[in-house]
Amino acid sequence: MSKVYFISSRADSRERNLTKYHRLLKTFDLGRVIRENDLVAIKLSFGEQGNLTYLRPQYVRVVVDEVKRLGGRPFLTDANTLYAGGRQNSRDHVITALENGFGYEVTGAPIVIAGGLLGFDYRTMPVSGEHFMEAKIVPEATDADAIISLAHFKGHMICGFGGALKNLGMGFGARAGKQMMHSDVHPEVTAATCDGCARCYKWCPEKAISMVSSGEGRKRKIARIEDEACVGCGECVATCFTGAIGISWKSDPAIVQQKMVEFAAAALTEKQGRFAALNFILDVTPDCDCLGWSDNPIVPNIGVAASFDPVSVDAASLDLVNQAQGNAMSALAGEGLASNDKFGAVHHGIDATAQLAHGEKIGLGQRSYELVDLDKNEPQ
Ligand code: SF4
Ligand code: SF4
Repeated sequence: MSKVYFISSRADSRERNLTKYHRLLKTFDLGRVIRENDLVAIKLSFGEQGNLTYLRPQYVRVVVDEVKRLGGRPFLTDANTLYAGGRQNSRDHVITALENGFGYEVTGAPIVIAGGLLGFDYRTMPVSGEHFMEAKIVPEATDADAIISLAHFKGHMICGFGGALKNLGMGFGARAGKQMMHSDVHPEVTAATCDGCARCYKWCPEKAISMVSSGEGRKRKIARIEDEACVGCGECVATCFTGAIGISWKSDPAIVQQKMVEFAAAALTEKQGRFAALNFILDVTPDCDCLGWSDNPIVPNIGVAASFDPVSVDAASLDLVNQAQGNAMSALAGEGLASNDKFGAVHHGIDATAQLAHGEKIGLGQRSYELVDLDKNEPQ
């Protein structure tokens, strides 16, 4: 059973937020994975332009300072996205990161966008999965001496939630690797529910949606998705307020999660004892930071969980969210408030535990964990 260290987000003048967080790092002991002069990849998402709930750079600074104190040489990294937007190539990605506050003066570490200018660089790493025997992983992951995952724990329209496993798997997949993971995602429009607002049409980063005649009179139009142009990013699902776009019967969210987990395992192939994960269970929005907006969190702020096991840290984070009181001013409003599957309630029954089950099955980590609550062990 893996240990998951936890500290709540409650704070006051006796112990401020960043001081508490620093105490978590000390107890957790990052020194177990960092050695003198190590190149340390700090994997995170810099957030999309317009999103306001991505991981705050001030939290990143505390990890950077600790890595430096241990003699490591940290850099902040993420790979370019598959879809168009503010992070599709390294030039735009750096600008987005800087505009979102991740400059050296704030974080104390340089930004190294992973996978080359257009995301075509990768190394082929072995993995003993059910879907893949090898995976295309960005060199910034494979060539680093150690990896620290800093994940904003929140919902996701295809995977149910995004934590350490998604941060590593989807985040360290090269462009070609991301296509391998997304190949099973096929959104489709239910004509009867579509009111023709064209919101999805305007938002789709790949221009894969067109507005076509509904066949019920010339004025009424509905959305249609061109499968060939669609990259399976799932953003249209989050954009549609009527629920007319869903992941179709042709795709299985569990398969996408399993593929993502196999990429995470591939990224960690040579990182035995050289990996740590921290999940920030704060601003738990229903959807991903890759969207250009932030809906209200579905639960109150909870805290930070840390582990050397990427499956355990996600399992513990998911349990903490499901045990929390739902926010009536959020997408959970109504029956979802009392649900013990809060991401499933928001995302129409997507089983987010598929990623945990598969992670355990392929030997990446354990679903069972021992929670070490540091708030029950206050400093004197
Ligand atoms: S956002 Fe939804 S309702 Fe609006 S056009 Fe697209 S599918 Fe139809
Ligand atoms: S998943 Fe939706 S938003 Fe993304 S590319 Fe396909 S149609 Fe466009």
